[in-house]
Amino acid sequence: MAALQELFETGMKFHGHKCPAMPMGLRAGLAAMNTLGVERARDKELVMKSETGKGHAAGCFLDGLMMATGCTYGKSNIQKLYYNKMAFTLIDTKTGRSVRVSLKPDFFEKALGSPFVQKRKSGVPPQDIEPELTDPLVNRILGLPESEFLDIGEIQEVDVKKGKGLFEAKACEKCGELTFVNKLRMGSDGKTVCIPCSGYDE
Ligand SMILES: [Zn+2]
Ligand SMILES: [Zn+2]
Repeated sequence: MAALQELFETGMKFHGHKCPAMPMGLRAGLAAMNTLGVERARDKELVMKSETGKGHAAGCFLDGLMMATGCTYGKSNIQKLYYNKMAFTLIDTKTGRSVRVSLKPDFFEKALGSPFVQKRKSGVPPQDIEPELTDPLVNRILGLPESEFLDIGEIQEVDVKKGKGLFEAKACEKCGELTFVNKLRMGSDGKTVCIPCSGYDE
């Protein structure tokens, strides 16, 4: 519980506002970690595939997942699948085991009907919603038994591909900016250039 409170406080600073979906992500991420018996990823010990997307309610869930698990975009041990579903798979790369966790449909449907989400629907930014609406929802989520809102799947075996990050960067011959070499391209004039200077899309 102390650990959850600490994650919540740091998560609030990282996320930027108080809302129910970020703590849902914290709880769900911790549940997946407990199931696999793993610690927060310091490097890329854990990998996440999140089924959330963008432009839908409760996308804040993913910030809670990142905060809890240490799967982050900077470390690139996370991937978004854009299925627009409140679910994710957490993979332990050491043991090759994974677990999929999702929000229970009836729980999430109720959450979408909350006064908080109605305010969001009418265009009120989350940080401007009264604490009288936000706080009870957030406190409830922080204390809710997992079985009341999470579906935790069976542990599965997965193939884990491991690669070392690239350390070699060269200057683009057009703009001069250092670029990791796997994204340098040969331009029509024979110069080695970065993607924006090349005119190619990738
Ligand atoms: Zn949020
Ligand atoms: Zn360039």
